[in-house]
Amino acid sequence: MEPMFTPALHRQRHQFVIDFVKRKKPKKVLDLGCCECVLLKQLKFHREIELLVGLDIDGVQIKKKMHGLAPISTDYLQPSYDQLRIELYQGSVTEKDARLRGFDLVTSIELIEHLTLADVELFSEVVFGYLTPEAVIVSTPNSDFNPFLPGLVGFRHIDHKFEWTRAEFKSWAMKVCLQYGYEVELTGVGQAPPGQRERVGFCSQIGVFHRLGGKERYNMFDEDAEDVFSYTLLYSIIYPSLHDNNILRRVLMCEVVYWAEKLKRRWIAEETGERDDTDYLCQAEGEGGECFRASERHVDTEETQTAACGAEMKTLVDQEEEDGELFWRHSQPDSDKWRRRVSVPLAVLWCCCPKVSVLSGSVSNLRLLLMDEPGVKLSQDGSAMLLNHQEQDLDDDDDDDDEEEHCADLEDSPYAEARQCPPSAEPEEDWEANV
Ligand code: SAH
Repeated sequence: MEPMFTPALHRQRHQFVIDFVKRKKPKKVLDLGCCECVLLKQLKFHREIELLVGLDIDGVQIKKKMHGLAPISTDYLQPSYDQLRIELYQGSVTEKDARLRGFDLVTSIELIEHLTLADVELFSEVVFGYLTPEAVIVSTPNSDFNPFLPGLVGFRHIDHKFEWTRAEFKSWAMKVCLQYGYEVELTGVGQAPPGQRERVGFCSQIGVFHRLGGKERYNMFDEDAEDVFSYTLLYSIIYPSLHDNNILRRVLMCEVVYWAEKLKRRWIAEETGERDDTDYLCQAEGEGGECFRASERHVDTEETQTAACGAEMKTLVDQEEEDGELFWRHSQPDSDKWRRRVSVPLAVLWCCCPKVSVLSGSVSNLRLLLMDEPGVKLSQDGSAMLLNHQEQDLDDDDDDDDEEEHCADLEDSPYAEARQCPPSAEPEEDWEANV
């Protein structure tokens, strides 16, 4: 039968749902009679959906392919802010379950014809009267079309209990609307041959129901509803999302480490004479590479610079001002140790890397996060990240004796002078509010 249509009829039915989802952007979607989860697997890519649930009476069918709904590696490597939970239940649409109430969209694709007419009544009561979703898409075979299906004798499937004409489907749909407060648009997929369209309609007839009265109506039903739980949860998965604090931390750490290393290398390249002239934070300038010009976008006034660096920095750094730009010089340039650690101010990281600023929200949040990271070494005042200058220094990393001496190495890095953004660049947000 199916090769009559291009794309295949079952694909057209699923595409109908997907087009609806693209237009209406429902957050909670329930697929009744989900079978092997074919539709759900397509819907999971529509990340406006936050809760995607499938229900089928046949647990064996669900279990066959349900693991195909799991996140793939890119979902973990590049998690988005979108949230998605997928749940699959075994149960009958003729029974109520409070967990499936209040969805934005319920789909029932080629399901009702598998029910007895008495069960269709229960289906109507459960779906429209109890679950009360905002929209329902019901598809079912249109028996007016059957004469065009070559070789068909009887129903289209051995398990079908009935196949309705368009008039029968319309009559059921109108009754549901009157009884439960919905309106319906009747349409379908699978075009009849030219010249026959008016007479026979679509191969699969579809009713798109919308609840009258919007959200208030759901609340009205909510109060009277029974809290029944008759379905068995077979599968549940939560997709990685930046709303999860642990994931956010991990992604943020990757960015921070990447950028801090990048800035360090840039500075080392400058130090060794391999100057990189791309627009960056600081560029070696002045005599013997001792002085560094701070990028204008990172240094505002001497007062703000001083405030950000703190008293400790003031004693270590010799600041001068020339033509409105800030300069500073290392106080102990002759020391062998001074090159061992490079300090990358958090304010610089925050300004440099858009992802770091978006993920952390503010420099103070960034500091709080990094303080808890075992692999990260911060300067004593917590304003800069300390990185080993050379690989072999890694062994010294956990040596507490080094701590004091490395804190004095804060002044190693030219980035220290560019360690702050204009005050307006750091929004006054608090960390909790950002997750
Ligand atoms: N919706 C799917 C499959 C349709 S086949 C698709 O679009 O391809 C009908 C499905 O309904 C079957 O998987 C069957 O197990 C399921 N089904 C039949 N009676 C049911 C009931 N009472 N409650 C829930 N699911 C039922």
